[in-house]
Amino acid sequence: MFEKILIANRGEIAVRIIRTCKEMGIKTVAIYSQADQDALHVQLADEAYCVGPTSSKESYLHMTNIMSIATITGCDGIHPGYGFMAENADFAEVCASCGVTFIGPSPKAIETMGAKAKARETMKLAGVPIVPGTEGIIQDIDIAIKTANEIGYPVIVKATAGGGGKGMRVAWTRDELTKAVSMAQQEAETAFGNAGVYLEKYLEEPRHIEIQIIADSHGNVVHLGERDCSIQRRHQKLVEEAPSPAIEPEIREQMGEAAIAAAKAVNYVTAGTVEFLLDKHNNFYFMEMNTRIQVEHPVTEYVTGVDLIKEQLLAAAGLELSVKQEDIKINGWAIECRINAEDSERNFMPSPGTITAYIPPGGFGVRVDSAAYQGYQITPFYDSMIAKVIVHGATRTEAIDRMYRALSEFRIEGIKTTIPFHLKLLRNEAFVAGDFNTKFLEIHKIM
Ligand code: ADP
Repeated sequence: MFEKILIANRGEIAVRIIRTCKEMGIKTVAIYSQADQDALHVQLADEAYCVGPTSSKESYLHMTNIMSIATITGCDGIHPGYGFMAENADFAEVCASCGVTFIGPSPKAIETMGAKAKARETMKLAGVPIVPGTEGIIQDIDIAIKTANEIGYPVIVKATAGGGGKGMRVAWTRDELTKAVSMAQQEAETAFGNAGVYLEKYLEEPRHIEIQIIADSHGNVVHLGERDCSIQRRHQKLVEEAPSPAIEPEIREQMGEAAIAAAKAVNYVTAGTVEFLLDKHNNFYFMEMNTRIQVEHPVTEYVTGVDLIKEQLLAAAGLELSVKQEDIKINGWAIECRINAEDSERNFMPSPGTITAYIPPGGFGVRVDSAAYQGYQITPFYDSMIAKVIVHGATRTEAIDRMYRALSEFRIEGIKTTIPFHLKLLRNEAFVAGDFNTKFLEIHKIM
């Protein structure tokens, strides 16, 4: 097992990783930008070092600075969390060449899954159903038009390097498609430095269902059931739950097997998520694989009782997972609400500032993963998420009522948050009935 690891991240996920490391007797090294010297992860880690100025590029994304701190402090592993370096194959490569274990999959697995057009081809070969669309990147608009004619409109043009819901365009006609391709290419070039785009059938009211997997280097690949992440705003998740109200055990099994096949196709090790779209007829299609721990991992932890960070550490250290497929049982219901420093009553406008009062909720079945505290200053430089409230109940109804109670209790002053949005959503009849898909917030106009 690792003796000391560097956590190449900040905020709630850095705190989350430190907690498991403490329980496992692993020492932790935090890094922080100049804007983050008072951050909670800095206070909780065994050691903390400034990695650079405020800008992410010069701090949390600065490979040389991060590697220098890791080697000087004698770390034997680096946990990238999510975002920043988490899906950077070059970084994983650099870690290996410096003799520090990257706590994640191999550079090759990151690369294959990170190029979404390539990932689609790999999945097709592995027998995993993919959304019908182009083979590889669109080189020629005529091929895109031909494919669209074959699969039928509407279609969606997506950036192969895409992430965070950026670089996607829907087209309903041939004219729109021509425009969508050139606009998506421009957007992708600006956002990701890679203009490559591909085309998929646009499913009109799908659910976003993803399967959590964990894998070790001894050939064990285990799936931990699904999360339903259909409640999205501009393709960004706001609420996640496990299990999904739409999934029957038989479909869970099928999706679980497909996710395991996806992981095996790239010799995947550690924790990962295979994202699918599910249509009304229970057909599911591979969308992408995220080769990292995800924001919404705690809902899976609640219903399975498995600490996913611990499994990541075990697998990265070359040990066996602590669980087998037959140990995984889905118990009760878990929901997560992402609390962002945004004014949900004013079009989710960012709301940075100092938190003047902070009293998080608690009690039976309530977990708060956050790096916020009273007096903490939310800067506009990084992610706007300030806390995740996760609840567990015996049933979905109990989980919804518990979340409503928890969020009503949550006191955050000095900044605006998305709590008012969540409270309204939790009282929406269709949501309570489990009747929703990725279009939910466009149709229901909660705020
Ligand atoms: P990103 O990596 O940017 O998050 P994804 O490929 O994961 O992009 O897609 C994000 C969201 O966009 C999905 O959860 C879904 O709501 C929507 N989406 C993506 N592809 C399709 C599609 N083919 N049909 C319908 N919706 C889609």
